[in-house]
Amino acid sequence: MSENRIPLSEPCLEGREWEYVKACLDDRWVSSAGPSVKKFESRIKEYIGARHAVSTVNGTAALHVALMVTGVGPGDEVLVPTLTFIAPANAVRYCGAYPVFMDCSPIGLGLDVSKVVRFLHEECEERAEGTYNKKTGLRVKAVIPVHIFGHPVDMDPLLQICEQFKLAVIEDATESLGSLYKGRQTGSLGHLGCLSFNGNKIITTGGGGMLTTNSDEWAARARHLTTQARCDELEYQHDEIGYNYRLTNLQAALGLAQLERLADFVCIKRCHAERYRTLLGESQDIGFLWEPPWAVSNFWFYTAFVSPTLRKTVIKNLNSCGIEVRPIWQLIHTQPMYRSCQAYRVDVAPGIYESGINLPCSVGLSDSDIAFVVDALLEFTTHPHRQVVSKRVVVD
Ligand SMILES: *Cc1c(COP(=O)(O)O)cnc(C)c1O
Repeated sequence: MSENRIPLSEPCLEGREWEYVKACLDDRWVSSAGPSVKKFESRIKEYIGARHAVSTVNGTAALHVALMVTGVGPGDEVLVPTLTFIAPANAVRYCGAYPVFMDCSPIGLGLDVSKVVRFLHEECEERAEGTYNKKTGLRVKAVIPVHIFGHPVDMDPLLQICEQFKLAVIEDATESLGSLYKGRQTGSLGHLGCLSFNGNKIITTGGGGMLTTNSDEWAARARHLTTQARCDELEYQHDEIGYNYRLTNLQAALGLAQLERLADFVCIKRCHAERYRTLLGESQDIGFLWEPPWAVSNFWFYTAFVSPTLRKTVIKNLNSCGIEVRPIWQLIHTQPMYRSCQAYRVDVAPGIYESGINLPCSVGLSDSDIAFVVDALLEFTTHPHRQVVSKRVVVD
């Protein structure tokens, strides 16, 4: 780690990244054509266990395309958790559809599936064409379960209810690459899965994403939409409005090197999680988010919970002694452009937001980094008014 600072999340680029990227430069394949893109897609689909993988410029684009291929359009509704990074809600709006915000489960912080079941039974009506929201009169077309911080949503009951109500399930697995739900990879469980390779994700291509699916038809349509809806290689003929959403060969080369390390990264992050949990275990005042019983999580992020009255001070103090920590995302249904959307029985998420702190989570953390973070966290939780006098001196 850098000298006097422990960053929240820093990529680990100590494998064959230089070698693979240099090969692209040497071969002049730097843009969206070239061998690495195909190879990266095929490695990802093998890893996930999906029939198809279509790369995209980022995870948000993957979500946008996933919604389009499942037929989500203007005036439709999509169920989205309110506790998440904002990308899935924005992707719904790019399609002209509206999110209906759902609560999070206290177990793992993902979508509360029991509330989805209740919403569909009590607030919706099934008609021949599909499911309609009685309050808004709009058709509910899809659900986006987000595997928050790498912890898988309870997918089996979700898939079951969505089958009954004919909803598409688009997994936002952007934070959970490498996490298992009942032994199966996230991103392979829904009708479509979306991945992100942004710089702070478990593996990175600088920026990038991937859409995964078992549907031949959806995969072909996704590829078409991401390449400007061009109909053939030679003539510039296009049959609908498409997008320039492709990943480049340079990015894919980086991704190939990162993917070689993914299993190690998951292993290391799980060890760090154990260490945080053990060191924080004694404390009455601090909680630590653990994986749900149905999951083996990649522990993309580590989350501690403190009293809501202390959270802001604790974050400020930790940041001023060089430990980069952050609050959890503000709930989306409270953000100005989403305040007019429906939020269904959001009772748990506000308390999670009020008390949560994301802790440093880089693969490169040392045991002493973790001990230092935990000591500081304990110190500022027990003595919130203590002044920060000096930054730490690295002893490693
Ligand atoms: C990172 C992330 C995305 C996608 O982000 P990009 O930066 O567009 O790759 C989508 N959803 C969630 C929950 C995320 O954390």
